[in-house]
Amino acid sequence: MWSALADRALSGTPISRDDARAVLHAPADELLTLLDAAFRVRRHHWGRRVSLHVLENAKQGACPEDCGFCSQSSKYASPGGEAPMKTVDDLVAGARQAHAARAKRYCMVTATRGPSQRDLDTICEAAQRIKGEMDIELCASLGLLTEAKAQRLASSGVDRFNHNLETSERHYDKIVSTHSWQDRVSTIQLAKAAGMDTCCGGIVGLGESEDDLLDLAFALRDLDVDSVPVNFLDARPGTPLAGYPLVEPGYALRALCMFRFVHPRTDLRVAGGREITLRALQAMALYPANSIFTQGYLTTGGATVHDDHQMIKDAGFELELASGETVPADPESMAAIAPPVRRGPSLPVARS
Ligand code: SF4
Repeated sequence: MWSALADRALSGTPISRDDARAVLHAPADELLTLLDAAFRVRRHHWGRRVSLHVLENAKQGACPEDCGFCSQSSKYASPGGEAPMKTVDDLVAGARQAHAARAKRYCMVTATRGPSQRDLDTICEAAQRIKGEMDIELCASLGLLTEAKAQRLASSGVDRFNHNLETSERHYDKIVSTHSWQDRVSTIQLAKAAGMDTCCGGIVGLGESEDDLLDLAFALRDLDVDSVPVNFLDARPGTPLAGYPLVEPGYALRALCMFRFVHPRTDLRVAGGREITLRALQAMALYPANSIFTQGYLTTGGATVHDDHQMIKDAGFELELASGETVPADPESMAAIAPPVRRGPSLPVARS
């Protein structure tokens, strides 16, 4: 059945909701067969290439929004920490470090409802300098956009805009009350209309039903986004979702396969929560997914660049650079790159 599903995805036939649901229920004995089928689809469109993405928390904490999973919201007593907007020089230095780590993409993120004019000026100036200095793709994640702000970002060299739907429309108001799911859809549409690629995904483990997860996958297909980051909840202390359990690693892999079949050609990223959720199974996520974040996340640590180069090399994959070039992973050279300091609590990579 999984092989037939891969055939269908490769022939361009969109998979049905029933098929997507069946993937989430694949028996444990069939997990390797399922991963192999998802890999056939991934390999057809992405080969054995893996792209590394580096997140830059350009402005941390004190966000007026109330996303229930987020330690950067000012509404919760979560020890996420606060830091003002970084300078242009700091952002350019972060891009240099990402480039040295052989990252394909550098993503500047601010904890805000939407970018102020001053923050937008900083991001746009940084984007122009980075693009003038090095070959790296740029992403920005700055909250809700207006048409003018989207166009300004695009004309400054920002290639891609990230704004996740997070979950289904039905489940959204159980997680967030300060803006709507439709607001998020509108921002993605504005980013697309301005000519930027769109990165839009969600979080597995928010207490959503199976139908909510399927709704998310299919809503993203309807939006025709270019990149889908799939996060797994790493519940933050002090947030309303504190204490929510980690997703089972086998379910996380099934979810990634489901997203791959629904989005055969898309840049599919195994995103936040990878290390703590998948633990020893992390490399298996590379069979459905073709990209990862490295050097941790916005407020939590994660695998180092060295760890990730080693995993990619050991699993027989290779790195895709912004130039389009494919190069071997090089853990030996990456040992000298220090992980960035995260101000929030950093959970261990592997938790028993
Ligand atoms: S808008 Fe972003 S930074 Fe603000 S609370 Fe929501 S997820 Fe966190």
